[in-house]
Amino acid sequence: MGFATDAIHAGVRPDPTTGAVMTPVYLTSTYAYEALGKSKGYDYARTINPTRSALEENLKVLERGVAAYAFASGMAAITAVMALLKSGDHVVVSDNVYGGTYRLFSRVLEGYGLSFSYVDTSRLERIEAAIRPETRMVYVETPTNPIMILTDIAQVAALCASRGLVSVVDNTFLTPCLQQPLRLGADIVVHSTTKYLNGHSDSVGGAVILARQDHAERIKFVQNSAGAILSPFDAWLVLRGIKTLPLRMRTHDTSGRAAARQLEGHGKVARVLYPGLPSHPQHALASRQASGFGGMISFVLKPKASPERFFGRLRLCALAESLGGIETLVCQPSTMTHASVPKEERERLGITDSLVRISVGCEDLEDILADLEQALDAA
Ligand code: PLP
Repeated sequence: MGFATDAIHAGVRPDPTTGAVMTPVYLTSTYAYEALGKSKGYDYARTINPTRSALEENLKVLERGVAAYAFASGMAAITAVMALLKSGDHVVVSDNVYGGTYRLFSRVLEGYGLSFSYVDTSRLERIEAAIRPETRMVYVETPTNPIMILTDIAQVAALCASRGLVSVVDNTFLTPCLQQPLRLGADIVVHSTTKYLNGHSDSVGGAVILARQDHAERIKFVQNSAGAILSPFDAWLVLRGIKTLPLRMRTHDTSGRAAARQLEGHGKVARVLYPGLPSHPQHALASRQASGFGGMISFVLKPKASPERFFGRLRLCALAESLGGIETLVCQPSTMTHASVPKEERERLGITDSLVRISVGCEDLEDILADLEQALDAA
């Protein structure tokens, strides 16, 4: 089936009791057995819930995996992936991952004996140089949040396969609608479903999709054992959101391209970081490994422009963390999403107070452009 058909139908069947076309929200913590030792395949709702299972089946199909598991947040999903490792193991990580991912790795998991090297994963030789005898995993975000650097997924996956390492890709920014890392050879995809997959800024969730059966079995075990499951209602919201994912991503992508072009021509803007622009150093890779560029844009204000005035003058675009909703969100990563990254590290990566991140929404393009333009004029 085509992607849009799968987005609407995969994992979804008419409800066996009523024929309801939409998957019901199964709000139950437990299930009655027909007799001792005879259940209908459902025993306890942490372990299995039909609404969550429908979403998991849907995500499995969209990302072309063998299994998918839904979690209470993107961070819970990433934590579950890290449970594939044991004390003493080492991970090579993209050096400007989401701030919360960096915080989990550096301030929680290091305490359990895991170690992490943060490198520019757009350079394969940097990954190779960071690999040690105890390295077990390479974890990449592509494009990275918020500097929009790409990693060549096929190259990293091939390197990992040749060295017996697990390759993990955070696919939150592009979604399987525009980029399918498992098809490019990666072992594991993680998502914050909070973002584009749900798409309506009204649910927090996460997912892990796996290419290997052994990984799938372990993640299922961890999901049930640690228990950070997605609630039935949130599973229902994400499942509903995904039905319009292809429509939304088309608009995010078209408007993202137009907004990036407009920003590039504005006198208060020093540099626009958007893989869809020919000026992006990895434009060719972006065109090769994804079928669109999406709605995430970062840009740097010129020194003469005031970030306070820019953010203060926005009217339509909300000043808010998060991304991937139908409404346009604008943030200052240095003080918001990436405040947990140490200042020196932020500055090394270019996450200064002049860096602005936009999640271009699905409003009328002219309205988005007009709001950005007038706020920049005032900056
Ligand atoms: N991965 C990326 C790329 C993110 O941007 C985020 C959150 O912003 C996360 C993971 C974490 O997801 P959540 O906020 O759902 O825990």
